[in-house]
Amino acid sequence: MTTQIKLGNLTIHRIVEQEGPFFDVLKFFPTLTKELLEENRAWLQPRFVDPADQLMLCIQSYLVRTPHHNILVDTCVGNHKPRPTRPFWNMMKSDRFEKNLAATGLGVGDIDFVMCTHLHTDHVGWNTRLDNGRWVPTFPKARYVFADRELDYWTKRQKDDAAAVPWVTDSVLPIVAANRADVVKSAHALNDLVTLIPTPGHSIDHYSVQVGKPGADAVITGDMIHSPLQARYPEFGMMSDYDSKQAGQSRRELFGRFCDTSTLMCTAHFPSPSTGRFVRWKDAFDFKPT
Ligand SMILES: [Zn+2]
Repeated sequence: MTTQIKLGNLTIHRIVEQEGPFFDVLKFFPTLTKELLEENRAWLQPRFVDPADQLMLCIQSYLVRTPHHNILVDTCVGNHKPRPTRPFWNMMKSDRFEKNLAATGLGVGDIDFVMCTHLHTDHVGWNTRLDNGRWVPTFPKARYVFADRELDYWTKRQKDDAAAVPWVTDSVLPIVAANRADVVKSAHALNDLVTLIPTPGHSIDHYSVQVGKPGADAVITGDMIHSPLQARYPEFGMMSDYDSKQAGQSRRELFGRFCDTSTLMCTAHFPSPSTGRFVRWKDAFDFKPT
């Protein structure tokens, strides 16, 4: 299934690869206490947290069609990729992503830009596919847009300990080797319809993507937020943050800027419909799905 969102002369599709319970919520948010979980259980369950206290997450890409370009933001987990520390993502053989992409009417050859909000395993997987034992770009015409400090950081991590970051080896570095990478600042503007917004913290140089014109725009947030719990409590870090304090500041800044406006927020991991708007809630924010 794909969902189509019209915003002025843009169309946004969600391309879902997986959806379901993934991680224990108390492990996922290390500073979340049992008491605060109980206080919030009534609205979190069953939609955002399942009966076993697993976080309900969606793994998906956003496809943005502008009058000029077809842009894919983040590329999920991918197939045939060894992920020994994540059994549910290890050596996947799923046709769901490809079928959902095909359902938009576009093929891999129609994508002009692939934008990776950051270089974690569930955001770079379909960057490449296996071709006769080699990892080649999945989207043959696309330029892949990476933030410069993000790419530097993961390139160094891979050089220091390749076994710890297999996704960099199979899904990031082959793009660089094939000369398909556009390495940019995380505040880069592609044109007047597509701008990157630096939202660091979850990773060193994470960016979000703003698309559209005032009054008909959206922000694709990547992993600067994982659960609506982090809207109400922006200071909650998640377990694989690079700098949780900075991630909290990014949430306060971005949601402060867009809350109570018409800007549609397209989150990477909230369960379907994943999109909505932020509104003021006490000294923080709340998420209203739309
Ligand atoms: Zn993620």
